[in-house]
Amino acid sequence: MAQLNILITGGAGYIGSHVAKQLLETTTHNITILDNLSTGSTKTLDTLKTMREFNFIELDLKEFAQVADVLNTNNFDTIIHFAASIVVPESVENPLKYYMNNTVNTTNLIKCGTDAKIKRFIFSSTAAVYGEPSEVPKDGIDENYLTLPINPYGMSKLMSERVIQDTALANKEFKFVIFRYFNVAGADINYTDDKLTPRIGQSFPNATHLIKIASECATGKREKMAIFGDDFNTLDGTGVRDYIHVDDLASAHIKAIDYLLENDSDIFNAGYGRGYSVKEVIETMKKVTNTNFQVDNAARRAGDPAALISNNTKIKTKMHWSPNHNDLALICQSAFEWENY
Ligand code: UDP
Repeated sequence: MAQLNILITGGAGYIGSHVAKQLLETTTHNITILDNLSTGSTKTLDTLKTMREFNFIELDLKEFAQVADVLNTNNFDTIIHFAASIVVPESVENPLKYYMNNTVNTTNLIKCGTDAKIKRFIFSSTAAVYGEPSEVPKDGIDENYLTLPINPYGMSKLMSERVIQDTALANKEFKFVIFRYFNVAGADINYTDDKLTPRIGQSFPNATHLIKIASECATGKREKMAIFGDDFNTLDGTGVRDYIHVDDLASAHIKAIDYLLENDSDIFNAGYGRGYSVKEVIETMKKVTNTNFQVDNAARRAGDPAALISNNTKIKTKMHWSPNHNDLALICQSAFEWENY
């Protein structure tokens, strides 16, 4: 297989570092990570360095002149673009941060990339582009479902998608894969003496995500948690989401690199196509960690849809991606072991 020269933006972050890990461990591609370290971690970079050598550039994508310089001097053929702001409530309070960090910086990255004759672009989008579906179809939400984001985060990603698509329409040399992530969770599946010992995981402070919060409760770092709404139109009344293990999501990106060598640009949902309720997730966390912690009932969070479940037929049939960790217990356990590390 040809050796590629790959740029990973946001490679010190949660999902980016899992992709970097797989690229370093399972390929010989030349890897450069670009990250401003605002939420990415140097500890993660140190761990990645023990796997194989890579280049690291500390840079904020808002530094347009320097971004152009990096792209003009490195001869990358593929960009995997993770660097972004990702906190939904913050995006409501500070929309311009999201439109600048996500949409504007992505647009500039593509401008500099195409000026430098980059051929392939792999982009982290989100199920938040689907907004608040009034009803989830029986087979889940597919890629043709109406996109109607209900917050600036989702809209900043949808606008970026459009920039990417329009660029590819006008420039036949430029191809893309856009992934719309459902609920990403868990940590590096790595075993030492048969014990699950994640080397990297989610380090972002002030977590808002369910599995991260439940794992903090299980380790005792957090005293209690709340269920945001138990009167949704779901089986047990709590919100239902499609949780995908971060290593499975990462493997989809590795597949996308090769996919784009032979195939046309496309958009893929990334999820397991199966939903779990908040109650089921909390029960699973308690069970696999053999812990108990206080769980209160609280009001619904603004803008939370009742259920978001992917239809993942397209990624399975067109990209031939198949998950290896489709197991809520393993997702919870890996999140816990990372938190406990
Ligand atoms: N949730 C909850 N308590 C928490 C965090 C999340 O009940 O402390 C619920 C949330 O309302 C939603 C689901 O868990 O139904 C997943 O939320 P998360 O923030 O993890 O992801 P989202 O789907 O909002 O991106």
